[in-house]
Amino acid sequence: RNACEQYPAQCIVDLAVLRDNMRHLVSVCGGPESGTAVMGVVKADAYGHGLIPAALAALAGGATWLGTAQSHEALLLRKAGIGPDRCHILTWVYNGVNVPFGELIKNDIDISIGSMAGIDLAAAAARAVGKTARVHVKVDSGFGRNGFTEESFDEALKKFVAYAHEGVFHIVGQWSHLAVADSPDVPEFVASTDRQIEHFNAFTARMEKAGIAPEIRHLANTAATLNRPEIHFELTRPGIGLYGYEPDPAMGTPSTWRLKPAMTLQAQLGTVKHIEAGHGISYGRTYLTPDDTSTAIVPIGYADGIHRSASGFDMEGAKHVQKDGGPVRVMTSEGPKLYRVSGRVCMDQFMVDLHGSCSADELDVHEGDTVVLFGPGRGEQFAEPTADDWARAAGTISYEIFTCLRNRIPRLYL
Ligand code: PLP
Repeated sequence: RNACEQYPAQCIVDLAVLRDNMRHLVSVCGGPESGTAVMGVVKADAYGHGLIPAALAALAGGATWLGTAQSHEALLLRKAGIGPDRCHILTWVYNGVNVPFGELIKNDIDISIGSMAGIDLAAAAARAVGKTARVHVKVDSGFGRNGFTEESFDEALKKFVAYAHEGVFHIVGQWSHLAVADSPDVPEFVASTDRQIEHFNAFTARMEKAGIAPEIRHLANTAATLNRPEIHFELTRPGIGLYGYEPDPAMGTPSTWRLKPAMTLQAQLGTVKHIEAGHGISYGRTYLTPDDTSTAIVPIGYADGIHRSASGFDMEGAKHVQKDGGPVRVMTSEGPKLYRVSGRVCMDQFMVDLHGSCSADELDVHEGDTVVLFGPGRGEQFAEPTADDWARAAGTISYEIFTCLRNRIPRLYL
């Protein structure tokens, strides 16, 4: 029965699914000949799916760019043998003097520049390594994070023009990031995205006037890749869609967009035991068993990245109010059943109440059984939970559910 591996939980990533999601995103952008390339956004260890395997699957699905926020992940991709003949790589977080611009330039990694200090640091690094830096100019079209503001742009353009003439920079791209493209049904958010697009275009016009027309413009995350074909430009940057999720579950279910979740998180049950009615479960006794019941221990907790906020209760003032905790699908003699976290998630484990008229023995639920916390959502009557269900229980988004999963959970690749 469901032999445990060295760890009582596994994160299984189906790379064929990841590849097919990328194939779908490439076709949404008009296919390989359309003039719109697709970047697989593989930052944060490919949203917890594993940087290198996910990057290779994205490339197999037709991505011709890879993108990371932190520069060390871009360097890891090149070190893994993903060379410039295979794809372009862009990295974008600017963290002051710590960005290894020289190494990035040497390794043919495109850099994003969105601050005055960044311009001179990158130029000095390009000179030092004797190689032209491939630069994407980041503009703040309304996100309020990285990028040149409209006021600072003239001064920045002077520098870009000078460094481009000297051959220190090759201005490859102009880019920006969208704040609310994941809410296509909210008119004020649609209007806000429209304003961002207008600002983005105004920045392009200023670049062109200064004589440095960017070859590649990119603005679209997954949401805009799916919803806003008019801003695909020469490159789109989907992240969450590659992993099979929508940025906002309200945009539709994964299947409506023909994307499929690539990750399954499963665990093998610890102790399954009978407990009497009125017994407190976990820290704080926030859950009291309403009846005689059986409980099962799922042996992963917040030290594995299971959100404590996915516990089965909320506080209303000083009072505990039961709410839906994170779901777990358990196979029972009566078929697959959904149970939820009872009480508080602990550091290394949490409990579920197998409540019902049957005992665990009658339900045929036993120590060592494999249960699924989330997966692709298979099954009709008792649908397997997805990371969106955990996100709802924890009051967060699927992105955080994946990226919080710690490395002590083994990643297995199909
Ligand atoms: N581009 C940038 C700059 C990002 O920071 C991200 C992720 O947040 C993405 C693209 C991909 O966004 P999404 O995962 O919503 O597709």
